[in-house]
Amino acid sequence: MKLNDLIKKVEKKYPLNLAYDWDNVGLLVGDFDSEVKKILVTLEANEKVIDEAIEKNVDLIVTHHPFIFRKMNKINTKDLKGRLIHKLIKNDISLYSMHTNFDIAFDGLNDYFMEVMGFEDSKILDVTNREILYKIAVYVPETHELQVRKALGESGAGYIGNYSHCTFNSKGIGTFKPEEDANPFIGEIGEIEEVKEVKIETIVPQKILQKTIDNMIKSHPYEEVAYDIYKLENKGEAVGLGRYASLDGNTNLESLCEKIKLKLNMDHIRVVGDLNTKIKKVAVVTGAGSDMVSLAKSKNCDVIITGDVKYHEAQDALDMGMSIVDCGHFDTEDIFKDVMKRFLDTFEDVETVKTEVCLNPFKMI
Ligand SMILES: [Zn+2]
Repeated sequence: MKLNDLIKKVEKKYPLNLAYDWDNVGLLVGDFDSEVKKILVTLEANEKVIDEAIEKNVDLIVTHHPFIFRKMNKINTKDLKGRLIHKLIKNDISLYSMHTNFDIAFDGLNDYFMEVMGFEDSKILDVTNREILYKIAVYVPETHELQVRKALGESGAGYIGNYSHCTFNSKGIGTFKPEEDANPFIGEIGEIEEVKEVKIETIVPQKILQKTIDNMIKSHPYEEVAYDIYKLENKGEAVGLGRYASLDGNTNLESLCEKIKLKLNMDHIRVVGDLNTKIKKVAVVTGAGSDMVSLAKSKNCDVIITGDVKYHEAQDALDMGMSIVDCGHFDTEDIFKDVMKRFLDTFEDVETVKTEVCLNPFKMI
């Protein structure tokens, strides 16, 4: 598969515009026209991971943490990052990073954490954005009105609340003159034609815009389809960082910790709070989420599961009656390689492997 086609598919599901402004996501090293047969997924890329990719004949590395983050003025072999970029290019390996866009997106890292833990019916903890909506207006001859409307509806366009296939249709006269080299469905070369047409208007969320346009054009009889697309001020579904969910009545902080250790395959875990505390509602922020303790409390959560908690943040949480389970940054995010592999395995003609390099910089002794 061409890297460019693969990226289009990935970004349809995990759009780059979901990422925070300070982030650096997308294709960070590589050639859009290169061919991808084998992918290595990893939380991050260091020299060991790049050597592993070379050894395994990988064409693309997909990371969660951005491989290039700080501004670089030079790329040469005297600097560590420069040397690694040089090594990637010399070995024809591209590198793609998906960070906060993947944390925020549906079916991204936070949703996957909830799935691994079996926390159901989760809600968004911190709404950062709402989905961008577009309006499509397409001009169709009356004979093909139903066919095009069906294609729009089946692509998922026209959802308003619990109603699907919503469109507005107005009749009018379309005019055109087929020029030389045209192959008109209706009319003659050089003659101005008038046709009874219908203008079909419908609403489309950004994530399915391209698919909807492709299907609409396929269903339309004209050689050149006339359509308009405009961005709307109306906003769609909410997206954001972190999730929270209600649990059954029998969970306390200690049993929750045991469950997390089991699911994440951890021997030790840091806990803030009384182990007998009843847990009715749980918040999750993968990576570093200790700045969301108050927000989780405001949603009536009894505990937040996250990483990178500092001493004073733990004290503040205790003072406000919140518990924290600190699994560590690494252990809340290393599951990235599992969820990415699951997603990339749905692509045909591409093999995806998970890194075998241990990337946790901390050891428990
Ligand atoms: Zn992280």
